[in-house]
Amino acid sequence: MKKNLLLIIGAVVLVLLLLCTAVGPQLILMMDKQEAVAKEYRYSDVFYDEYEDVRMHLLDTVDTLKADGHNVQLSSYAIDEKDDLYIDTIYIPATEKQTNLIVITTGVHGIEGYIGSVMLDVFWKEIYSTEVVNAANTGVMIVANVNPYGMKYHRRYNENNVDLNRNFILDWESFDMTVNKDYPKVDTFLGPQSTLGNAFWHEAGFYGSLVVEVIQDGADTISNALLGGQYEYPEGVYYGGNGDESSTKYLKDVFKQTLESEYENIVHIDVHSGYGPRYNMVIFNSVFETMNEAESVQLFGYDNVIAHDSEAFYPTTGDTTDYYYRLHEQMGTDKGLFSTCFEFGTIGDSFLDSIISMKYTIEENQNHWYPSSNKTTNEIVKERYQELFYPTEKEWREKTIADFATACKGVLKAKLITE
Ligand SMILES: [Zn+2]
Repeated sequence: MKKNLLLIIGAVVLVLLLLCTAVGPQLILMMDKQEAVAKEYRYSDVFYDEYEDVRMHLLDTVDTLKADGHNVQLSSYAIDEKDDLYIDTIYIPATEKQTNLIVITTGVHGIEGYIGSVMLDVFWKEIYSTEVVNAANTGVMIVANVNPYGMKYHRRYNENNVDLNRNFILDWESFDMTVNKDYPKVDTFLGPQSTLGNAFWHEAGFYGSLVVEVIQDGADTISNALLGGQYEYPEGVYYGGNGDESSTKYLKDVFKQTLESEYENIVHIDVHSGYGPRYNMVIFNSVFETMNEAESVQLFGYDNVIAHDSEAFYPTTGDTTDYYYRLHEQMGTDKGLFSTCFEFGTIGDSFLDSIISMKYTIEENQNHWYPSSNKTTNEIVKERYQELFYPTEKEWREKTIADFATACKGVLKAKLITE
């Protein structure tokens, strides 16, 4: 009797396991599937999903600006001619006096260039054409799609798996490649060297390994390992490289030229997505910006600012805004410089959200190096990565537009010299 019961329980467990293996992945995909993109919402016609469309639209924008009588200079820098990958820079000089230069960079993290591209439209329509920008004394330089490979292939990283926003190191020779002391401790967890298996069992395995890692090394070790960037594991996540990448060389040179130019005052905005509370754009200031959070909030008339004194502030190495300040200092110029990052939150900023973000980041990187042959697994990884940087939800998309317009106006009103 007892034996029969055991047999029945065993059979039920086996059926359940088989069911989970067979149906689990599809259920996960259904749960993760983003909502279909709404037909119409603000700027809906310029929310593109492919790099080629973003680029074509940018070139059309140049024609429109020219037709409107602006003196537009376009230069396209090839990252890979065979693959049609270019960084496109649009420059419109101040018409009378070179006082201010607005510099906007998008797509430093490739996949984030999609939302960056939309924000350029918001800039032209709601900011450049208004009283906020006086074209007589203010020039504009847009460096679009800084990481075209990452855009085309929907990755945060570039063609060499380098996170470009960890690659802007002032001097590689004196730079300590072992700066991230925590990453080596958790490398095997962050960069698994195997193919993603059945999506259902992968979920269980991930959370199991996470618990083991937290017990072994502590949650802080994992979050510290992730945020700052690392320089020792070329196949890992947030790898900052070991020298200037092509995109980095180009943008460093642009920054240098702006600091050598006639312009007295430079305001730089680098557009990103993925970090912070959903439905909220955060102005994330460089550690080299002396203004604190309260001062910035008041000056910009914008509530969400993270400054060097904020609780949520975290230091990174090699990001574009820090580099701009350090170059400014190294060149000894007395020009005004404000360089900041606009970051659109996607998943959220609770503890659980940060685990989910980390999970999606690890999975995408793992699937890049060890591609799964399973169609459902590939789809789940892609859906999740998209949600992490470029959600389809109408409410999210409209809020990005509103936040960008408010913050951009606030920063420019505060930082541009008017006379
Ligand atoms: Zn980013």
